[in-house]
Amino acid sequence: MTQENSTMDQLRWEKFPVLDDGFVCLVDVMGNDSSVVQAARVSYGEGTKKVSDDRTLIRYLLRNRHTTPFEMAEIKILVRVPMDCWRQWIRHRTANVNEYSTRYSVAIDSAQTTPPDQWRTQSESNRQGSARPLSEEQGSKLCESEKAFQLSARQLYDERLEVGVARELARKDLPLCTYTEAYWKIDLHNLLNFLSLRMDSHAQLEIRQYATTIGEKILKPLFPIVWEAFVDYRRESMFFSRLDTGVMQRLNQRGAEQKLSPPFSEELFMEVQDETWKGLKRCRERDECKSKLQRIGLVASE
Ligand SMILES: Cc1cc2nc3c(=O)[nH]c(=O)nc-3n(C[C@H](O)[C@H](O)[C@H](O)COP(=O)(O)OP(=O)(O)OC[C@H]3O[C@@H](n4cnc5c(N)ncnc54)[C@H](O)[C@@H]3O)c2cc1C
Repeated sequence: MTQENSTMDQLRWEKFPVLDDGFVCLVDVMGNDSSVVQAARVSYGEGTKKVSDDRTLIRYLLRNRHTTPFEMAEIKILVRVPMDCWRQWIRHRTANVNEYSTRYSVAIDSAQTTPPDQWRTQSESNRQGSARPLSEEQGSKLCESEKAFQLSARQLYDERLEVGVARELARKDLPLCTYTEAYWKIDLHNLLNFLSLRMDSHAQLEIRQYATTIGEKILKPLFPIVWEAFVDYRRESMFFSRLDTGVMQRLNQRGAEQKLSPPFSEELFMEVQDETWKGLKRCRERDECKSKLQRIGLVASE
């Protein structure tokens, strides 16, 4: 038995828990790191190349966005996920999906609940994001009303079924917290796209937990070299635009003139910011540039 087969056999059907009642589990996989390499070399086997050569090639491909070799491998997973999260997930059109049918079967009797310490406030800086957790006391109250609402929504659904309403109609008032299940098959290239968008801090926390579980528990052991390159060149890499690099060059230049060393002050950052940002009270691009430069220690953190 090869190393890859045994890794797959160990992983297959293991349910990795996510949220309170969700999971992801590997159903099948086609290919491994070598499939990417094989496609890139358009050859018929591993030949005499060493692992280090494969690693170098995979890293080159990912770094340079030579994407088609990554389409030669696929994974199929089974997921159990609340509908609100699923609604975001399903936007990834390049996957093949087969979902549990609530026309055909009774809806899964499970709804995602939020723990008392995990009710988040609306972010003020990001209209799509959340900020700090509410107090435990507020959280507990929200949990009580959540419980009552979910119970009553389910009761309404069950009552409709009892009087003979069709499942396709009875389900219409089920809340988005209701869990669904689906088979999800996707090639490695599009999976990496999914993971880079959904593991990102801008993605909603709940779907981030699913993406992180898929990445770390399934992809990493099955495709260790691809995973390593993904982390290095996508996940933990940083993109600098023409405007960002202009700011960096001017910061270094001013620093040298004024005999300052990094981290430079926020005032200096504002002085050398891009011309198009000047005069704007709020500018997301400027904020993003600043936070990148703070991360690399070029600008002082507040
Ligand atoms: C943080 C965040 C916030 C978001 N906010 C919103 C929002 O407010 N409203 C909203 O509607 N959506 C929102 N989305 C969804 C987002 O716009 C994408 O629809 C989703 O992330 C799927 O990405 P994708 O198209 O790259 O993936 P896939 O559908 O898997 O596609 C992968 C790639 O294939 C190519 N592709 C696929 N289909 C086509 C096509 N028909 N034509 C051309 N190229 C194609 C594209 O290159 C695409 O990048 C958000 C996503 C994120 C991560």
